[in-house]
Amino acid sequence: MSVDLRKLRRIVVKIGSSLLVDSESGALRRDWLAAVSEDMAELKAGGSDVVVVTSGAIALGRTALGLGPPPLRLEESQAAAACGQIVLAHAYREAFGAQGVAVGQILLTIGDTEERRRYLNARNTLSTLLKLGVVPVINENDTVATSEIRFGDNDRLAARVAAMVSADGLVLLSDIDGLYSADPSADPAARFIPEVARLTPEIMAMAGAARSEISRGGMVTKLDAARVALAAGCHMAIASGLAAHPLRALAEGARCTWFLPEANPGTARKRWIAGSLKPMGSVTVDDGAARALAAGKSLLPAGVTAVSGSFERGDAVLVKAPDGSEIGRGLSAYSVADAARIKGHHSGEIEALLGYRGREELIHRDDLALRR
Ligand code: GLU
Repeated sequence: MSVDLRKLRRIVVKIGSSLLVDSESGALRRDWLAAVSEDMAELKAGGSDVVVVTSGAIALGRTALGLGPPPLRLEESQAAAACGQIVLAHAYREAFGAQGVAVGQILLTIGDTEERRRYLNARNTLSTLLKLGVVPVINENDTVATSEIRFGDNDRLAARVAAMVSADGLVLLSDIDGLYSADPSADPAARFIPEVARLTPEIMAMAGAARSEISRGGMVTKLDAARVALAAGCHMAIASGLAAHPLRALAEGARCTWFLPEANPGTARKRWIAGSLKPMGSVTVDDGAARALAAGKSLLPAGVTAVSGSFERGDAVLVKAPDGSEIGRGLSAYSVADAARIKGHHSGEIEALLGYRGREELIHRDDLALRR
C-alpha cells in the first residue's frame, strides 16, 4: 500500500451512479450507502475532513419518473436530475444521520470552479462547512447545466472540488479496482497498475474509452481527474466500490491504483498563485506588514498603504514593499474599490466601512506566495 488513507487530512470521495443505483431495478442501494457512510464517519472520527461528490441524481430521477432507458434527451435528464437529487440528498442525510454526522448539499456548475469570484465563494462555503464538522455532499447542478456548460461526469468535478478545497486525497469509487494497461474486460493480458507517479503519454493511452452502463465517466475522465488532482498536490485513488465498506477496505490495503503528486496541496496552490495567474493590480504594504508576511502571517488591511489596478475579489495582485519592490503575489479577498476603503484600518472596522462583514485578512496566508 503506497498511501495510508487514514493519514490524509482532507479526503474527497467520489461515488459513482453504478454503485449507488441498482442497474436492474433503478433503486437506491441503501445498505451499501449506509456502509460507505459508516466508513466515511470513521475517517472523520480519525481526524480527516471528508467531502462527498456523488452521482445518481439522473439515474434515480429516471426511475422515479418512469422515463425510458438511456440516452435521455437533455431536458429529460434535467427533469430527472431535479427529482432524483432530492432523493439522493435525503438518502445521504439519513445514512450520515445514523452516524451522527451532519451533511450539507452543494450543487456546482463548471462556472463555479472556473470563474474566480464564484470559485472563491464556493471555496469559502466549503471550508466553513468543514470547519463546522459537516460533510459536504456535492453533485453537478444538472438541472441548469446544459450540454455545453456541463462537466457531464463527476470524476472531473470531484478533481476540481479536491483542488478547490486543497484536499490531499481523492478517492474515485467505481466498478473497477484501478488502472489496467488495457481494458481488462476485453484483453486478458491487461496488466494491473498499482501506482502512478507521472501521467506519461503511455499511462494516458491506457485509458481506452471503456464506459460502464449507467455512469458516464470511464477511464478517460478518471485520468483527466488525475491530471487535475496531481497538479493540485492531491493523491488520487481509483478503487473498487463494489464490496460493502470499500473505504475501510482501502484503508486496510485493498488493491487500487494510487496516483502520487509531486508537491503537497499548499505548495501546489502557492506555485499556481506565483506562476500562472496574471496580477490585476497591486497592494503596497508598510514595513511592519512586510515583516509579518515574511514571518508567515496574513496581510491585514491595517498594513496596507496603497492599492492600485483594477482587481475584483479573488483576483491575483502583486504585493509590494514600501520601496515598490515585489514581495510576492496573492489573491485579494476584496475588490480594488473596497481595498482602497479599508486600507490602513483595523479589521474590526471593515463592516462599518463597507457595510458588510468580510474576511479579516486582505490576503490570507494560504492565498499568498512570497518571492524568495
Ligand atoms: N451528475 C450526474 C448525476 O448525478 C452524474 C454524472 C456522472 O455519472 O458522473 O446523475
